[in-house]
Order: sequence, then structure tokens, then C-alpha cells
Amino acid sequence: MESIFNLDHQNSNLDNKIIAGLERISQVFKTLLWEKSKTLNLSPIQIQLLIFIQYHSDKKNTVSYLAQEFNVTKPTISDTIKTLEQKQLITKVTDKKDSRSFSIKITASGQKIVAETEDFINPLKKIIEKSNPDDKLVLWDTITTMIQQLNQLQIISVQRTCYNCRYYSLNEGNSFCNLLQQKLKKEDIRIDCPEFEQNTTN
Ligand code: SF4
Repeated sequence: MESIFNLDHQNSNLDNKIIAGLERISQVFKTLLWEKSKTLNLSPIQIQLLIFIQYHSDKKNTVSYLAQEFNVTKPTISDTIKTLEQKQLITKVTDKKDSRSFSIKITASGQKIVAETEDFINPLKKIIEKSNPDDKLVLWDTITTMIQQLNQLQIISVQRTCYNCRYYSLNEGNSFCNLLQQKLKKEDIRIDCPEFEQNTTN
């Protein structure tokens, strides 16, 4: 197979150039996050966990779920949680029904760190905000479809998109949410919906 990193192959084929471009953009997230982490003496995964914990429900803030979400092992998550707990940025809340299980809650100090770090994506936000609305819709449609296909290939293990949700239905090409009881236009499709429930018939 031709390598997309071979510049002759890359530059003579649009598909290869798109893939190379996506790879460059993925590096941007790492670079921006790394810059933030250096100033606060926290690792990128510690910052990512704090941001995720702040904005997701208790059900998702468990070691098993976080390991799947971030595609790392449970021991890696446990070690990160331990460090964040020592820094008093999170606390563990034991499950009343099962004393071996716990969920993770962010503390006030943790929330302060989130407020200082979550703007790491601002340079990209500014570029997207300035884009043409039609271009944004095409981009969003491409992104949601790619996420769905990567999930089907089990490369993205956790996703909470409409296309995979038990409340989603498609009628004559129109997407519909049976929970919100509303038609879903392209711009309404979500990739991280708090109401998402896995469609087990897929
Ligand atoms: S509940 Fe959320 S994820 Fe599910 S179809 Fe409705 S909007 Fe989409």
C-alpha cells in the first residue's frame, strides 16, 4: 500500500492529503494541551480527566468508563485519579450499594483548574467561528459520519452520538429524536449527548 507519508504519494492524491491534514490537526490539540499542562504542573491526561469529570454525570465518572473513554488501561486511570486526589482536585464517592465501587467528583480547586485550562482549544474555536455557515455544516456532517464509522471499526470505543442512540430514528432520510420529540437537522446531531442511551439492536 502506498504510504501517505511518502510526499510523492501524498501530494498526488487528494485522499492522502486529507488524511495527512487530519493528522496535522490532531497534533495541534496535543500541542495546545501540552502548553497548558506545563504552566500548571499537571499532565495532559490529568487536565483531560478533570475537564471530562466536571461536565459528565456520576455514572460516567468511574475508573472503568474513563478507561474506555480515553482508550487507556484501568491502572493508568487509577494512578491518575490517585494523583488528582492527592492534589485535592477530585474526591471519591463510595457507591452506597457496593462499597468497592466509587464515582469521582471534582472539588472546588479542580473546578478552578478546569476554568484555567479549558480554553486551550481557543485558537481552533476562533478559526471555526470565522468560517462560512455552509462550510461548517459540511464539516460537521463529515465529522459525525467519520466518528460513527471509526466507532464501527472499534477504533473509537466510546461514543454518544445520535446515530448510535436508542432514541434515534431515520424516516425517509430525516433524522428524528424520539426522546426530545424533534426532527434532527444536520446541525442538531450530537456527538456527546447527556441523554444518550446505547442502541443495543445495532
Ligand atoms: S437522546 Fe440525544 S443522542 Fe439520543 S437521539 Fe436524542 S439528541 Fe441524539
